[in-house]
Amino acid sequence: MLGSMMQQQLLISSLLVHAERHHGDQEVVSRRVEGDIHRYTYRDLAARSRRMANAVASLGVKFGDRVATLAWNGYRHMELYYAVSGSGAVLHTLNPRLHPDQVVWIADHAEDQVLFFDLSFLPVIEAVAGRVKTIKAFVAMTDRSRMPATTSIPNLLCYEDLLEAQSDKFEWPTFDENSASSLCYTSGTTGNPKGALYSHRSTVLHTFAVSLPDSLNVSAREVVLPVVPMFHVNAWGLPYAACMVGAKLVFPGPFLDGKSLHELFESEGVTVSAGVPTVWQGLLAHVEANNLKFSTMRRTIIGGSACPPAMMRAFQERYDVQVLHAWGMTELSPLGTACVLKKKQLDLPAEERLAIQSKQGRAVFGVDMKIVGEDGAELPRDGKASGELLVRGPWIIKEYFKSEGGNPLVDGWFPTGDVSTIDADGFMQITDRSKDVIKSGGEWIGSIDLENIAMAHPGVAMAACIAARHPKWDERPLLVVVKKPNAELTREELLQFYDGKIAKWWTPDDVVFVDAIPLGATGKMQKNKLRDQFQDYRLPTA
Ligand code: ADP
Repeated sequence: MLGSMMQQQLLISSLLVHAERHHGDQEVVSRRVEGDIHRYTYRDLAARSRRMANAVASLGVKFGDRVATLAWNGYRHMELYYAVSGSGAVLHTLNPRLHPDQVVWIADHAEDQVLFFDLSFLPVIEAVAGRVKTIKAFVAMTDRSRMPATTSIPNLLCYEDLLEAQSDKFEWPTFDENSASSLCYTSGTTGNPKGALYSHRSTVLHTFAVSLPDSLNVSAREVVLPVVPMFHVNAWGLPYAACMVGAKLVFPGPFLDGKSLHELFESEGVTVSAGVPTVWQGLLAHVEANNLKFSTMRRTIIGGSACPPAMMRAFQERYDVQVLHAWGMTELSPLGTACVLKKKQLDLPAEERLAIQSKQGRAVFGVDMKIVGEDGAELPRDGKASGELLVRGPWIIKEYFKSEGGNPLVDGWFPTGDVSTIDADGFMQITDRSKDVIKSGGEWIGSIDLENIAMAHPGVAMAACIAARHPKWDERPLLVVVKKPNAELTREELLQFYDGKIAKWWTPDDVVFVDAIPLGATGKMQKNKLRDQFQDYRLPTA
């Protein structure tokens, strides 16, 4: 017997309709590419999104067509999130930090029909416009007065002109909730990038999960500033969650340096923010150097790569900003786990709480996870056994876009490529990405632990630990370090810093100081580049 409940399709447009109806006067504030502050409400967002939906249709975009964006976090990008997906087309958020050759490859692979871009990317667009095969129209996300006087881009349109020509009357269509809604490519650190094609259903379910109190905890009482870009897995779902709950949204545009961010946090009363650890480093350095504080910010969500405990300590102990450590992947929409302590853990000594918070966290409902050994057998959830992390759930891909790379699943589970433990309370901790693990004499050394220790040294600004070749042990850890400005720090001092903090044989064999560690398009350390750079490095122990 079937239940007798309504069969309503879960559609992205319904999030916007809800926000307009119930939170119409709630603000959306953006620092624009031009540098000024733009301010409007969810009511305005909804009206302009409907106009844009008409405009997108007028460009010949049909159901299921891909529409690309190359844009920062801002209100026009938000309008496209709803206008494109809501009308049944697929929003493809290109990553502007990629090399133009990669942008061309990805746009061709996605068969993008129209490309919307922020003016800061004009040079990139000029470089790729003649090369992309399927894009019929380019739209500059600006008004008439700021349109470039001369450009080599064919068929260049103006966002505000397009909007003005349209009515704000638009009925959001109803269709199968399993229809594709948006497309995100993985960074392709190994091989060509692969696309994760989300659906309306997966996105709406993920939005519920993001908003839960023991997840990212978004609500109508929060002022949310996503530093994580809207081209990095849909800013971790925050543009959808904000509409679902009616939170005030603040967009930083391209201004992601510590000073600009801190000013915006303070002027807009931001209560919660989200981003990768490298962004917070700049912010903390600025706040520290200028003796500032956070008067309204209470929480920051850190994910994308491991948050060093030293960074957590700085936020929590010095600035009274709670860190929420979270883990996810493009293939998971992206949220997998969030690290929120349970009631029984709240009264633990500070150091024990910090140790739990350093884990990546508990699975949000909807994400089923397990760890397996090399033979594929499930390993115990005892916080000790470590193996490959597998996941399954309704917002996890079952295959890549266009079936690229074949079937990625193992018995219905998606292998994450991360190596982790899961403890009896369900807290998952990543020890490494399987490709970053250091294999020393048949044993595995997790590079994240070694980096976290280095990051706790006051003289270290950034640290990456990679495998260097060793004649006896195959691989041994090599620590690559960027010093803080003016820090006096020697190799010996740093190696001694490991004493007592880790098994002796895990201590890196050597330290090299560099000016910078290469960062990828989403702000993560590119250890594959470092491995290439140091592939012939001769360890003193070799
Ligand atoms: P890419 O980095 O390849 O662009 P993603 O953004 O999807 O792709 O990155 C997903 C990966 O990032 C995860 O598989 C994991 O290795 C890493 N990651 C994400 N969050 C965390 C975290 N909190 N701690 C450690 N690693 C993380």
